[in-house]
Amino acid sequence: MKDLQFKRHRRLRRTESMRSLVRETRLQKEDLIYPIFVVEGENIRNPVKSMPGVHHVSLDHLSEEMTELVQLGIRSVIVFGVPEEKDELGSEAYNEHGIVQRAIRHIKEAHPSLTVVADTCLCQYTDHGHCGIVRDGDIANDDSLELLAKTAVSQAEAGADIIAPSNMMDGFVAAIRQGLDEAGYSHIPVMSYAVKYASAYYGPFRDAAHSSPQFGDRRAYQMDPANRIEAIREAESDVMEGADFLIVKPALSYLDIMREVKDRFNLPLVAYNVSGEYSMVKAAAANGWVNEEEIVMEKLTSMKRAGADLIITYFAKDAARYLDQ
Ligand SMILES: [Zn+2]
Repeated sequence: MKDLQFKRHRRLRRTESMRSLVRETRLQKEDLIYPIFVVEGENIRNPVKSMPGVHHVSLDHLSEEMTELVQLGIRSVIVFGVPEEKDELGSEAYNEHGIVQRAIRHIKEAHPSLTVVADTCLCQYTDHGHCGIVRDGDIANDDSLELLAKTAVSQAEAGADIIAPSNMMDGFVAAIRQGLDEAGYSHIPVMSYAVKYASAYYGPFRDAAHSSPQFGDRRAYQMDPANRIEAIREAESDVMEGADFLIVKPALSYLDIMREVKDRFNLPLVAYNVSGEYSMVKAAAANGWVNEEEIVMEKLTSMKRAGADLIITYFAKDAARYLDQ
């Protein structure tokens, strides 16, 4: 073996302290945004069957839920409302006394230091379950924009720190930005679901948010999982329309898209580690097929390595506990 030439990469992997010294990507609690589902009613803390560890909580249980997060060191939440009443125009979405608006007020009063992100969409609030309003069996893009802007303003009024529109109508960032500015909320940033794929990974969420479309599907507005260049076009227009953060959703099957978006645009990038990605790990771990902690940390770290600055994840509490060990 004389004169054999090669590099000794293993020098940097010899001990844990050496590995830690050269680690390129670090997950921190500050990176995590925890999604919460708020329901009408009292004394409710119902487990979501398809998402072990996730609950529907009523307003009176919100404070204890937030206290737990704060104690764990989580600083941001994204709020989803599950209203009792749904109608054709999703009017509960922009009702100033709607479930999300009340939840935001509640959280900001009890824990002003938490950053509250409001998910801005209509699908939880429309009786047909689509993200926009329906005209002649079609999702009417431009008519939906006005309602979205109205929803965003009512959420900002309630105290939301960030508006996160998720409905994938064309022009939604421009409409919401203008709506916020005109209402005196030019200081409130927009975290746009810029690249959102029509994904099977959303299944358990729809169970949680009761938001399955009653007819058709969302492929006329969400993206085809096969497309990459289209993702750049989507992100580009949101940047032009004034987005302050870009979200790629789902995360795990779209790490390549994240990297590309991160390399092209100088905005904070957010990964949405969606319900299906969560439930698959929980199911496998419950069966003893995978080591949950190691899988969760590997997954979340891979999203950061792919370029995500922040991660919206149902694993936020678990990850915060692992990071404390
Ligand atoms: Zn929606």
